[in-house]
Amino acid sequence: MSERPQRGLTRADLDALPNYVPGRSVPGAIKLASNEVPYGPLPGVVEAVADAAANVHRYPDMGVGVLRDKFAERLGVPAERVVTGCGSVALAEHLVRATCLPGDELLYSWRSFEAYPIIAATTAATSVRVPNTAEHGHDLAAMAAAITDRTRLILVCNPNNPTGTSVRKAELDEFLDAVPDDVLVVLDEAYKEFVTDPNVPDGVEVYGDRPNIAVLRTLSKAWGLAGLRIGYLVAHPEVAAAVRKVVTPFSTSMAAQAAALAALDAEEEMRRRCDLVIAERDRVEIALAKLLPGVPASQANFVWLPLGERSVAFAQACEAEGVIVRPFAGDGVRVTIGTAEENDALLRAADKYFA
Ligand code: PMP
Repeated sequence: MSERPQRGLTRADLDALPNYVPGRSVPGAIKLASNEVPYGPLPGVVEAVADAAANVHRYPDMGVGVLRDKFAERLGVPAERVVTGCGSVALAEHLVRATCLPGDELLYSWRSFEAYPIIAATTAATSVRVPNTAEHGHDLAAMAAAITDRTRLILVCNPNNPTGTSVRKAELDEFLDAVPDDVLVVLDEAYKEFVTDPNVPDGVEVYGDRPNIAVLRTLSKAWGLAGLRIGYLVAHPEVAAAVRKVVTPFSTSMAAQAAALAALDAEEEMRRRCDLVIAERDRVEIALAKLLPGVPASQANFVWLPLGERSVAFAQACEAEGVIVRPFAGDGVRVTIGTAEENDALLRAADKYFA
């Protein structure tokens, strides 16, 4: 046998790759760290999951037929354009696998959703990060300038996690016109239901006809199903078909499908809850902006505090007051909007820190 190279059992490059860091849950503390909506499951969801439990010895419907039809009907698109997955984060990974060969480039703004660089590093894609503007938003002109012959996929997070900034239709139109037809642009609209600015486009409604634009959505945030892991993609039929080839079989569980159907039936209650979150977001943002300059306007269910080197210290100070927030060391802190009482606790902790 020829001499084998020295190596471990797993990819050596993973040693240097940071793990995805979830928002921490600390027993007894108020958790404002994972962009969840604080009001519990929507009406009908618990019963739907309990009913689904009777059949969990069977595989789920792999085609997700009933739910896909329901998404399609709500969105006014053919069902062949909808793909569901184990959270929208899984679909983002599937999209990269469906578009990028080794060395192809995945372009995104940074800082943005922390899963993007992890997805690039664990697939064949090469990350190309374009720094956010000084106002913490996407620099679309710089992103357009960063497109190369190797660019295959561009992620536009709108609103952006963790900064809450949003891209408006006029600037997005201009950017999209500069993107070659063979580059897929994915609008990650995980926080779409919290958008109140009429200038922020609904990707499906506005760009649905463009073959190289796809939209990612999730039921984890506004729809309250983070624990069941379900997201969906709306894309051109050819893109949707390619993604279906790389999806892990049966990745949308029976419980998730049943819960999603029930949640979609509770849309009015979802809207009412989002309106509460939006009102609180605006209150919290105004209060925090009085304490710290440069807090960007948020269109999501969280607010970004550009605290730089003080980020971890601020998060620790909040934790000492029983509130868990999400620090990004050296950069900023993301504060999820909770109930009015939870937000009051956060504001008390912030007042104390900045006093
Ligand atoms: N996209 C963005 C921008 C997010 O912030 C998140 C969740 N943090 C996701 C996608 C993934 O959500 P999920 O996998 O729960 O659908």
